[in-house]
Amino acid sequence: MTDQPLATPVDLRGRPLRDLRVSVTDRCNLRCRYCMPREVFGADFPFLERDELLSFEELERLVRVFVTLGVRKIRLTGGEPLLRRDLPDLVRRLADVDGLEDLALTSNGVLLPRMAGELADAGLRRVTVSLDALDDATFRAVSDTTVPVQAVLDGIAAARAAGLAPVKVNAVLQRGVNDDQVETLAGWARDTGVTLRFIEFMDVGTTNRWQRDRVVPAAEVAERIAARWPIEPVEPAQPGEVAERYRYVDGAGEVGIIASVTRPFCGTCSRARLSAVGELFTCLFAAAGHDLRAVLRDGADDAALAAAVAGVWARRDDRASEVRAEGGLEGPRVEMSYIGG
Ligand code: SAM
Ligand code: SF4
Ligand code: SF4
Repeated sequence: MTDQPLATPVDLRGRPLRDLRVSVTDRCNLRCRYCMPREVFGADFPFLERDELLSFEELERLVRVFVTLGVRKIRLTGGEPLLRRDLPDLVRRLADVDGLEDLALTSNGVLLPRMAGELADAGLRRVTVSLDALDDATFRAVSDTTVPVQAVLDGIAAARAAGLAPVKVNAVLQRGVNDDQVETLAGWARDTGVTLRFIEFMDVGTTNRWQRDRVVPAAEVAERIAARWPIEPVEPAQPGEVAERYRYVDGAGEVGIIASVTRPFCGTCSRARLSAVGELFTCLFAAAGHDLRAVLRDGADDAALAAAVAGVWARRDDRASEVRAEGGLEGPRVEMSYIGG
């Protein structure tokens, strides 16, 4: 197939396909209770076998196809993407894809001290690190780990030193668990120069015992920050931006809040997800994906692959977070660690 751009598919609600999250593994070295509770993801859990995963050749080919269809931004995720063997080789392949404007990675940061330099050398530009508390005991309780929070802080420092900047930090807040960390995290981010984004706790998957009263609403987070450091809203830089951005009036940078539960943004959602075995999901709350690996391994050429992706997107009607806000999100859905957070 030529690398000529094809028409960008538009879904049933008029939303283009622009953004792809690629899960490279369903495994993780932490057990955050809101994502992979240890009682479910224990020693017997049937994680994917290595030969089931898409190879780097297959991933690169699929990414090229997605880019011809209009995808401009790829984020590598998982599970913990740094656990995927030889990840820098994949980064090197994807960094070379013409037309791709943004290649990023989301990580829990624990392995970044070892890997940040190699990832930057391979062509990675940015990382987002997840960090839900600065207090060590709270961090270890949320992530159900003996790894100290200092390991994540070292990971963030290593990313910055390697030039993977600006580093973004994501913090999921849960009432009664780590909501006392709002000001601590915000103050630390202001001092450190990282861009912090708070995320509302979501009912992804079916194992994390989500309860609405554990969600800390975005409005409350903004009020608490503003009470300490005055902030003003920033206009979105591009359509489909999920974080509501605020600027500190005193010039100490920005903070974002992702209000997936209280102010859903399905109306502009242009994001698809690819599982580590090559299933295409059109929503974080989907019950099932569309098997692109089978299409690939059946010998489809790039035009046929593009047609398969475009066909799935053209039939997309997802708006799960809006449905939840209207009071009715039910039914089976896949786990975040599998689909790629
Ligand atoms: N392991 C990597 C990490 O933690 O950054 C990448 C995968 S993780 C699934 C991606 C993001 O999803 C993390 O920032 C995590 O905090 C977020 N996440 C996981 N479960 C969530 C939930 N139930 N609600 C909101 N965010 C969640
Ligand atoms: Fe692992 Fe990330 Fe899920 Fe935590 S949020 S369990 S680090 S995949
Ligand atoms: Fe997009 Fe689905 Fe999230 Fe809505 S619920 S913003 S459609 S991923």
